Amino acid sequence: MTAEIIDGKAFAATVRGQVAEHVAKLQAGHGITPGLAVVLVGEDPASQVYVRSKGKQTVEAGMASFEHKLDAATSESDLLALIERLNNDPQVHGILVQLPLPGHIDSDLVINSIDPAKDVDGFHISNVGLLGTGQKSMVPCTPLGCLMLLRDRHGSLSGMDAVVIGRSNIVGKPMAQLLLGDSCTVTIAHSRTRDLPAVTRRADIVVAAVGRPEMVTGDWIKPGATVIDVGINRIDAGEGKTRLVGDVHFDSAAAVAGAITPVPGGVGPMTIACLLANTVTACCRANGLPEPQGLTP
Ligand code: NDP
Repeated sequence: MTAEIIDGKAFAATVRGQVAEHVAKLQAGHGITPGLAVVLVGEDPASQVYVRSKGKQTVEAGMASFEHKLDAATSESDLLALIERLNNDPQVHGILVQLPLPGHIDSDLVINSIDPAKDVDGFHISNVGLLGTGQKSMVPCTPLGCLMLLRDRHGSLSGMDAVVIGRSNIVGKPMAQLLLGDSCTVTIAHSRTRDLPAVTRRADIVVAAVGRPEMVTGDWIKPGATVIDVGINRIDAGEGKTRLVGDVHFDSAAAVAGAITPVPGGVGPMTIACLLANTVTACCRANGLPEPQGLTP
């Protein structure tokens, strides 16, 4: 069997198009422009690339982008003061603090200082609790993107056996909550899981969010299963070059799976698309307007 390749790049473009359409309606009908503030502390090169890309796509969708680039030595109290200003700024509907933060700053304290209604990353403890109890919340972007891809392929996920490899607060745990919300039977696997290949071989859906290059191989996959590869790993490609690979060994898994996301071009583009979607959703909620359909769980 050769798996269908799930084109996350194309799907993300569709989501961004839906976002742009909704933004245009908000502007024409209500004179409101959704705004996203992104805060970057320090010079981490990967974070700088992400922030640039987020700003560019925010503007392309017709929204306002507010970038705050702070020195690596910025104090925790100065960062908290900025977040307070953004919380109170009516032009800002979404706030994202790019992680990781420098070691002298308490990330949990900072994330939990964001107004939960503007927490478009969905990491605030209130949003975590709301998602866990099946209530309306802001949902973390990467798992939301994975859910959209899965629903697009399968329609209803009800009754499917899903294994999420990884239990991080950013990906693994919210992913499991979302799949549970869609009535999957969910297993969360991690570094202490015994006989992981046997666990994944039972699954109709495997979501790999581990951070270990090409760990999941074809013999771990049930024939016909859907494989969502969240991993982004840069490996040595020889001659001083590097290349990106996922947590799944693509060729061997694609020979067995029914469908699979590639890396790059799978989950990655969905993350920023969902960030834009969350910002429009936050803007609609803040203004008591109907939310865009299909962009929330
Ligand atoms: P974390 O490092 O926070 O979590 C990794 C998880 O994998 C942990 O729960 C860990 O288990 C588990 N794990 C580690 N080794 C093994 C193993 N040998 N077998 C089974 N489980 C294992 O990573 P993140 O969740 O933040 O990210 C995961 C991957 O997703 C990374 O490659 C990251 O770059 C990528 N990513 C991609 C995004 C995108 O937009 N596409 C967005 C966010 C992340 P334990 O808890 O027991 O230590």
